[in-house]
Amino acid sequence: MPKTVPISVSSIQPIPAGWQQQLSQAITDPLQLLKMLEIDSQHFPQCQEASHDFQLKIPRSYVEKIQPGNINDPLLLQVMATGFELEKIAGFKQDPVGDLAAMPIPGLLHKYQGRVLLVTTGACAIHCRYCFRRHFPYSNNSPGRDQWQDAMAYIEQRADITEVILSGGDPLILSDQKLAAVLDKLGNIPHLKRLRLHTRLPVVLPDRITDELIHILKTMPQKVCIVIHANHGNEIKSAECKALKALHKAGITLLNQSVLLKGINDDIQSQKELCETLYANGVLPYYLHLLDPVAGAAHFETSEQKAIQLMDQLRSLLPGYLIPRLVREKPGENSKTPVFGL
Ligand code: SF4
Repeated sequence: MPKTVPISVSSIQPIPAGWQQQLSQAITDPLQLLKMLEIDSQHFPQCQEASHDFQLKIPRSYVEKIQPGNINDPLLLQVMATGFELEKIAGFKQDPVGDLAAMPIPGLLHKYQGRVLLVTTGACAIHCRYCFRRHFPYSNNSPGRDQWQDAMAYIEQRADITEVILSGGDPLILSDQKLAAVLDKLGNIPHLKRLRLHTRLPVVLPDRITDELIHILKTMPQKVCIVIHANHGNEIKSAECKALKALHKAGITLLNQSVLLKGINDDIQSQKELCETLYANGVLPYYLHLLDPVAGAAHFETSEQKAIQLMDQLRSLLPGYLIPRLVREKPGENSKTPVFGL
């Protein structure tokens, strides 16, 4: 008997049980999404044009967390294609953080001392409209079979590399078999001390956190850290709590990075609730990023001054261990740049 989840919006079909099946049934048509949420398309003019270059993509379980009829819902605004994306704004670029210049071989980024990042796949479960890699040429810069060997050889030959970050796209989009194959290779490199996965799946497709996946991660010889990506407390409901708690119980370090987004989470209540919800589920707030100036996302930008004020307020309300570090990524720097007030 297939498992189905009760739903609140009449036009949404039952969610299938398997995460891969859920992925294949993600919503990709902006008008279908609006219809499911009972929102008139006139509120989002040019949504279909905006979805041409960077296709709208949302799993049905994420749609369930959006309030029907609410055009300002903080989850809807993260994922809904809009005409603002078509505007050309000075300073907003295709590769805002200089990824391509930091790639010694396809699919491997080496920006910072002691750690490298592998672009394991170009695929994600969801398309976040503010994504700094929304224009990234994945087809030329994800490792094919030969490049995987090159990437592993690059790491093996450099004993000063002690940490590998699996990113993408989203590394947890890979099947268990493919993920295990990559991790197996990394597990055999003696100088690696830590493995980190940057993933949004525990928050947008929580059924991906299966017992099998946890077993793969738990049996790695290196310490494993998962950096999730949640921007708003409404993203973390019961299924996501269950997934996060299962990872936490398995002894995996859980951190969160989020992006400060205008009209979505640039208010004190949203930030406070997010930090508290994360901690309640075993996740420590890690980074709050200022928006990377990627073409098509200028309408999400919150000023640095407002961000600093928010952090001051947050510090007055929460203990230090619940406060993320406000950072900006600048191309060519040897770490993320902390942002402080005067
Ligand atoms: S999940 Fe991450 S990589 Fe994928 S679109 Fe969202 S922000 Fe970008």
